[in-house]
Amino acid sequence: MKRALNFNAGPAALPEEVLAKAQSEWLNIRNSGMSVMELSHRSSIFEDIHHSAIHSLKEILQIPSNYEVLFLQGGASLQFSMVPMNLNAPDKYADYVITGSWSEKALKEAQKIGKTRIAGSGKNDNYTHIPKLDELSVSDDASYLHITSNNTIYGTQWHEYPDTKHVPLAADMSSDILSKEIEVDKFGLIYAGAQKNLGPSGVTAVIIRKDLIHESSHLPSMLSYNIHAKNNSLYNTPPTFAIYLLSLVLEWVKDKGGLKEIEAMNTKKAKLIYKAIDESDGFYKGHARSGSRSNMNITFTLPGEAAEKQFLQQAAEAGFTGLNGHRSIGGCRASIYNAVPYSHCEQLFDFMNAFKDTYKKCGTR
Ligand code: PMP
Repeated sequence: MKRALNFNAGPAALPEEVLAKAQSEWLNIRNSGMSVMELSHRSSIFEDIHHSAIHSLKEILQIPSNYEVLFLQGGASLQFSMVPMNLNAPDKYADYVITGSWSEKALKEAQKIGKTRIAGSGKNDNYTHIPKLDELSVSDDASYLHITSNNTIYGTQWHEYPDTKHVPLAADMSSDILSKEIEVDKFGLIYAGAQKNLGPSGVTAVIIRKDLIHESSHLPSMLSYNIHAKNNSLYNTPPTFAIYLLSLVLEWVKDKGGLKEIEAMNTKKAKLIYKAIDESDGFYKGHARSGSRSNMNITFTLPGEAAEKQFLQQAAEAGFTGLNGHRSIGGCRASIYNAVPYSHCEQLFDFMNAFKDTYKKCGTR
């Protein structure tokens, strides 16, 4: 069987070892005579899987003991609402840095809940860069400052985070969590939909400092961090299969040597693809400005729609998938999350160079 050269933006490539392990346990997990999906979420086997996923995430990200890890549903999109519902106060403002479509969406939901301000934006520049830290208006009276650490659609990424002092920093890390080492204690809250670096869609990880979890009886139970924290994310039936796969992905990250090794590999992969862009004499144009380039989603255009169409068509014929840009902005995008092997990036590098040379010589095929 030939596996695809998968550059999807999410759901995205999963480590082959993880899929093989899940396959080996498909009909009978830990001698239960059942698949993981058939177990009760209150069974000791599932409890162990759930516990090990939380424990591994804490270990890999070195999450301090004053943080809670929650596994929730509703995707990162539900966090756009839960963050302001739980963290903003009626007499205060929630501040947002807008660096792309996902931060726009996060802000839009927060505006429905309470008062918001924009602390910085890259919109005027078509989101080609992350605002410099000294350009941000970080107010010390905000309930929190929200950022999108990696902009999946535009292909930009924060490489340094703002120092918000006592104001909690809340980050949507959906598309770069576990791609590099971070200092969790710089953040009040981190959330991430799983379907890029953590596992399959259906589970969302929330890492929240315990002092930000408040009594919230005014909120619907399912939207309260307090309820989920008190019940160890088992207030209702959790997405058991997604949490199981997440636990396997976390084991894989540990086997790979942890985030130091993962980060080094991600940098190496990104450098290679950016090299294909930078050394193409302007044939490929990167969207992101240098300094803001993402190591996860590499966005670029070709000279004109016809060239782009041909590029994507020939790429598909060669076994590549997911290289089209997001439907809202077009162009091309290579998403190179943790599970995308270096060898696939090498093949993309070669393909990009060969396509450029042929196109320059012959134009159309
Ligand atoms: N934030 C970011 C940065 C994303 O990339 C995405 C999805 N691609 C979302 C939020 C929305 O996630 P979900 O579909 O899990 O709600």
